[in-house]
Amino acid sequence: MWDFSTEPEFQAKLDWIKEFVREEVEPLDLVFNKFCHSYDVTDAKAVAAIKPLQEMVKKQGLWAPHMGPHLGGQGVSMVQLAQINEILGRTDWGPRVFGSQAPDSGNAEIIHTYGTEAQKARYLQPLLDGEIVSCFSMTEPQGGSDPGVFATTAVRAKGAGGDEWVINGEKWYSSNACWASFLICMAITNPEAPLGERFSMFLVPIDTPGVEIIRNVGLFHEPLYSGEGNESYVRYTNVRVPADAMLGPEGHGFKTAQDRLAGGRLHHAMRSVGACQKLLDMMCERAVSRNTTRGPLSATQSIQLQIADSAIEVQQFRLMVMHAAWLMDQGDHAAAYTAIGMCKVLTAKTYREMSVRAMHMHGSLGITNELPLGNMFVTSMVMGLADGPSETHKFNIAKRILREVKPAEGLFPSTHIPSRQPAAREKLAKYL
Ligand SMILES: Cc1cc2nc3c(=O)[nH]c(=O)nc-3n(C[C@H](O)[C@H](O)[C@H](O)COP(=O)(O)OP(=O)(O)OC[C@H]3O[C@@H](n4cnc5c(N)ncnc54)[C@H](O)[C@@H]3O)c2cc1C
Repeated sequence: MWDFSTEPEFQAKLDWIKEFVREEVEPLDLVFNKFCHSYDVTDAKAVAAIKPLQEMVKKQGLWAPHMGPHLGGQGVSMVQLAQINEILGRTDWGPRVFGSQAPDSGNAEIIHTYGTEAQKARYLQPLLDGEIVSCFSMTEPQGGSDPGVFATTAVRAKGAGGDEWVINGEKWYSSNACWASFLICMAITNPEAPLGERFSMFLVPIDTPGVEIIRNVGLFHEPLYSGEGNESYVRYTNVRVPADAMLGPEGHGFKTAQDRLAGGRLHHAMRSVGACQKLLDMMCERAVSRNTTRGPLSATQSIQLQIADSAIEVQQFRLMVMHAAWLMDQGDHAAAYTAIGMCKVLTAKTYREMSVRAMHMHGSLGITNELPLGNMFVTSMVMGLADGPSETHKFNIAKRILREVKPAEGLFPSTHIPSRQPAAREKLAKYL
């Protein structure tokens, strides 16, 4: 059954979210507007401003919508989550106010799935309560997203308190380590094992001796020497953690990372649909507001073509994200995995092309810091890299598709017309 309708009760919730985001969340974007400011739990003024809003969201039963009810979340379907995230994705602060911001949402999911009761009590609960933020520490400076060249190790040792692991290595782009209470560090524990069984995950409190933030790297539109970047370059030097700091079984780190990143990619895509719709709305407003001697921009064909292309691209993107979400709801994880890979690639492409188009359409104003477009363009570039570059996702999509395909039986392709014609002629002989 194909059904694109929304239940009236859920539509009422979406309407509440839309109004709340416009009236209460957008002002946060305008005042607390450093890039990634929404992760800074040390900013007392911002924390004081969002607390009452988070309470209002909780009262509506909309807190942490990606988590099940037993974890204080709403337990909505993925298709419903897509609709919520589209609204939140129009703002920087929306995800934080609703307790669903990356990377904390994905980190919470893996602690929930693989964590022991003690780990959940120590890390998951404060994370779900929005009291702390966390960090996923996987990428390495020499290795990018290719685990085959990762070098961070964790080695068993005897410590004063019993069995321990000693972690050594460097991690690049450990987002928000500067504000995080703990890091989830992926390290080699079984160097001789095949790639899929070589790594384990560790929960490392940020104040563990040996954890050092070399520097907090900023993105290219952030001032180089301000120290305001939040992409932390982290060194682990003889970092000793107890045996029970391991998250999930030994050798399971690669699988855990895959689980974590797949869901996270879809959440990013859902929010990016909202961002792309916002870009389209901005372009439309600009087109009918800006006048030339020949009339408004909207009267020119080149602008009309851009508006039409943008509307088509956003709708294609939205439907693809909805379809991936629907596959997840059906429990078809294999098909969803490919669909999420496609969404990941399309997120970067659609978002980047639309943000460049929107900047150009806004002329000189479009490239100032007086519009959100610069930030949105940077975010679009981030979408093509974070959680793996688009190319690697394309390889995986192609591999999964090609796995199912058989080679042509004869010398020519199976669609070769002269080869197929005799059989078709025979089948239709009585009419010929
Ligand atoms: C804003 C942001 C936040 C991030 N947050 C985190 C985080 O919290 N935790 C974390 O662990 N990591 C994080 N990352 C890191 C992210 O996972 C990596 O940037 C990504 O995996 C790519 O690695 P790299 O940047 O070293 O690029 P590289 O691996 O050097 O890739 C550069 C380019 O080379 C090409 N390329 C790479 N590999 C292949 C290949 N196999 N085949 C063909 N072409 C290829 C692609 O064009 C790619 O764009 C973040 C990145 C960004 C930008």
